[in-house]
Amino acid sequence: MALPTQKRSTSRQRRRASLREIKPKTLFVCSQCKKEILPHRVCPYCGCYKNKPVIKMKEKK
Ligand SMILES: [Zn+2]
Repeated sequence: MALPTQKRSTSRQRRRASLREIKPKTLFVCSQCKKEILPHRVCPYCGCYKNKPVIKMKEKK
């Protein structure tokens, strides 16, 4: 069976494991409705992207 040729030091193990950590999600504030939205996506609340309405939103009453 294949075996690792060299021992991985604890710092190397930890450094590699740090890439797998859960990072906080980056949020973006909508310029129209000031709600937190995901970047590079059309706002799900007002349907705007880069200050322009892109999709028509169904109004709930
Ligand atoms: Zn919006």
